[in-house]
Parts: sequence; structure tokens; C-alpha cells
Amino acid sequence: MENFDGKTFDVAVIGGGPAGISAAVYARRGNFSVLVLHNGGSALEKAHKIENFYGFPGGISGEELYKNGLLQAEKLEIAVEKAEVTHFEVLSDGKFEILAGDKKFLSKTLVLATGNKKLKPDIKGLEDFEGKGVSFCAVCDAFFYRSKNVTVIGNGRFALSEAEVLSRTASSVKILTNGQDSSELKKLNKTFAVDERKILEIQGNSKTGLVGAVVFEDGEVLQTDGIFIALGKAGAADFAKKAGIMLEGDKIKTDEKMQTNIPGLFACGDTTGGLLQVSKAVYEGTLAGLSAISYLRA
Ligand SMILES: Cc1cc2nc3c(=O)[nH]c(=O)nc-3n(C[C@H](O)[C@H](O)[C@H](O)COP(=O)(O)OP(=O)(O)OC[C@H]3O[C@@H](n4cnc5c(N)ncnc54)[C@H](O)[C@@H]3O)c2cc1C
Repeated sequence: MENFDGKTFDVAVIGGGPAGISAAVYARRGNFSVLVLHNGGSALEKAHKIENFYGFPGGISGEELYKNGLLQAEKLEIAVEKAEVTHFEVLSDGKFEILAGDKKFLSKTLVLATGNKKLKPDIKGLEDFEGKGVSFCAVCDAFFYRSKNVTVIGNGRFALSEAEVLSRTASSVKILTNGQDSSELKKLNKTFAVDERKILEIQGNSKTGLVGAVVFEDGEVLQTDGIFIALGKAGAADFAKKAGIMLEGDKIKTDEKMQTNIPGLFACGDTTGGLLQVSKAVYEGTLAGLSAISYLRA
């Protein structure tokens, strides 16, 4: 696995939207080395026109504002990498090791600015079985599914990485895309069976009271002992569950300086909930960047 120039960054930011770039800009202007990892799909890119953000009398398209942010970061000599992060962990020396595809990055601090990802797909019965066979974290729960048949609901690199973790313990792993675009998965996956049908509902096992089956819209039933949710990219809450970061619902819990419960790990923007607006993302990104500086200087 590639180690990014063997270099340890002072600040790594996951997310290239207004929150992540603001954190990166402040940290860089404090003269620290900064890495931004992003992979498109920012809420901002979906915004046709932003007309309520300071300084744009005619408004600006979200896509242009997003591109401008990345350009601004590059001009400040921030390392900007287009890469999807699937996992990170805190090493014994307190540094962060971040995995994105076949690349590995190291940093002394980490800012999570991955935006607002809805953790749960809207599937009938799913909520009823949370903690009873429906899981959101393969690393946390794979052990419960030793020699069992499990399914991953997902459609990209994140689903694949969860399936790989599960395949070390489960006897079979199948990926269900639930009708979502699976072009990326098709390119990357050479190992797992994939079913692209839309799911109608999750049913229980009448004997155990745990998850028993997935029912597809065409009426076919697939027996399964466990269902792992990994749709789209890993979002802040997905990372949080693996890393032990405190959540409120599926939003990251921080103090007023954007510090999470893990030292050196900050979160900002839509990941923390509240007002989902560019101005709030910029404000929290600023705080997170400044807090990372204070942490590094302490
Ligand atoms: C249709 C629409 C219209 C909107 N209109 C307005 C408006 O008029 N005014 C306003 O103020 N706000 C508006 N918003 C909200 C605004 O876009 C968001 O509040 C803002 O973009 C949040 O910024 P953020 O940096 O927290 O997250 P985002 O902008 O969502 O950025 C998230 C970043 O994280 C990256 N990322 C996520 N997961 C991973 C991963 N696993 N690996 C690597 N990178 C990852 C993404 O690539 C992206 O760079 C609108 C949103 C939408 C959807």
C-alpha cells in the first residue's frame, strides 16, 4: 500500500466542501502542512445557485463555489487528493492513519468535514432490526457473524471494503445495491456476488426474533443472518462508529471548538448537524482549523 511520500501531515481534512476547505485554509495559513481528501458529491455541487452567501450579489452556482474552494486550497500549497476514504484509525502514538483506495495517509490531527450523509436507507423493517441483525459497522460487529451468511447493502468502494472485512469471518457475503447506481462497484469488485434489485422490506426470523431475510420488490426472498448498511461513501457517522467518536443521532458531537471526544480529531459543517448552510460550514471549518493549530502548538 502506498504511503504518501512517507510524509506525516500536520492536519488532514476529509472533505473538500466549504467546511473542509475553510479548516484547511486556516491551518495552512498557520504554516502547517495540510492534506485535503475529497471525492466529489458535496451538497454544494448539487446547489443550482447560492444567493444567500456573503459577497455574491448575483449569486453563484454551488458547483463553481466548490471548484473555487479546491482551487484556493491548491494555490495555498495544500495537498489536495481526489480519493475516497473508507477507513481511518488512531495509532498508538496518537497519529491518524487514513485509508483511501490503495493509498495510506498519516497525520497528526484530523478534521472530518464529510457533509450530511443520511445513514439509513428507507427500507421497510430496517429500523425494527437495528442491533438485531442490522449493523452499520463491519469492523465493530463482524465477530457476531462468524460462519454466517451476511449481506451488505451498498453500491461503491465503501460497500466493498465492508464486505472484505466481513469475508474474514462470515461464511458468505453478498452485496445488495438496492437499485442504486453500481457502476463503481462493478469496476472494483472481483470477489463478491452482487444483486442489483430494489429491496421491498427486511423480515425477521420467527424463531430468533433477529433479521431473517431480505424481500426484493419482485417478491423473491433472500435468507440472511445479518445486514450491513454501507450505501454511497463512508460518511462521518460511519467513521464515528468505527473510531468510537461520540454521536448525537447520526451527527458528530463536538465541543464549541469543534473538538470531538478523540484528542486531535475535529468535525465541522453539515457533519455536526444544525443549520445546513454554507455560512455555518465556513464558520465551523474556521474554528476546526484554528483548533487543530492550537492542538499542534500545545
Ligand atoms: C440542493 C441544495 C441546495 C442548497 N442551497 C444552499 C443555499 O442556497 N445556501 C446555503 O448556504 N446552503 C445551501 N445548501 C447547503 C450547503 O450546500 C451545505 O450546507 C454545505 O455544502 C455543507 O458544507 P460541508 O463542507 O459541511 O459539506 P459538503 O459541501 O457536503 O462537502 C462534503 C465533502 O466531503 C467529501 N467526502 C464525503 N465523504 C467522503 C469520503 N468517504 N472520502 C473522501 N471525501 C468524502 C465530499 O467529496 C465533499 O468534498 C444546499 C444544499 C443542497 C443539497
